Amino acid sequence: MLEKITEFFRTFLKNIFGGLRSLFLPKDKESIVIVEPDPEDLVPQDGGDIPQDTIVTIDTNLEEVVIVPDVEETPPPEIPPIDITPEPIPEPVTPKPRPSQRFLWCLDNGHGKLTAGKRSPKLKDGSRFFEYEFNRIIVKGIIKELKKHNIKYYNIVPEINVDNFLKGRVLRANNVPSDIPKIFLSVHSNAGPGTWTSAKGLETWFFHGSRTGRKLAAVFQQQLVNALGWTNRGIKSQPTKQFFVLRRTNMPAVLTETGFYNNKKEVYSLLDKKIQQKIIKAHVDAILYFEKYGL
Ligand SMILES: [Zn+2]
Repeated sequence: MLEKITEFFRTFLKNIFGGLRSLFLPKDKESIVIVEPDPEDLVPQDGGDIPQDTIVTIDTNLEEVVIVPDVEETPPPEIPPIDITPEPIPEPVTPKPRPSQRFLWCLDNGHGKLTAGKRSPKLKDGSRFFEYEFNRIIVKGIIKELKKHNIKYYNIVPEINVDNFLKGRVLRANNVPSDIPKIFLSVHSNAGPGTWTSAKGLETWFFHGSRTGRKLAAVFQQQLVNALGWTNRGIKSQPTKQFFVLRRTNMPAVLTETGFYNNKKEVYSLLDKKIQQKIIKAHVDAILYFEKYGL
């Protein structure tokens, strides 16, 4: 009898939580539904919120990544000389320009000035590194380059005096009208456990199980590793506790974590304008790769 009662409750609870789970985890990202409530600050925002021992999938093997070819235009083929004949002169053949606006890049700067934490311990001069400032410098630099290349972008959170604003970020990206496919790029710097951490290097995150996300992550990671030469921590995803912005966006999404701002050495690199330019260029090179070759 006791067994029967236990079994009854087990099935009952399974049905309830199984049902709820399917509400929160849509089968495909296109049909994603924002479900209230979801306490924003309890979900992981980026790599700094993930305890090191909970990472389920770590892929440091990037061998399958296609080597990013030179993004220079290939020269147009020579137009063959036209014979003068009685026949009608054909129209000269003009090479087709590559599509310069393949995607709308939804650029996410991760945090705002009102986000708690997300800053380094005091530096030598008494100042601190604030992650929201770094993220904005990189996103601003990316936008400057994308304008030069005539690539479409959407700056999701231009405001500074906001908190994490996770739902707002996702809704803005999901709702922005676009006649071309969208890609979500979230730019961050990492933090390790403790005041100062020995953790260092580069990692890029994608939505667990998404092949497109994985490809995005691989190319962004490769470009960052090539540009900076820092420790390659690989591309990462995890089946549970996924980052809010990867889970709730209805488009391919990728999240870069460049360096650790509570690593005594790396924080000074992250504040270095020349290195910031390299970080910007690495992101732009990855974007140019997908603009040229598609997903
Ligand atoms: Zn962050």
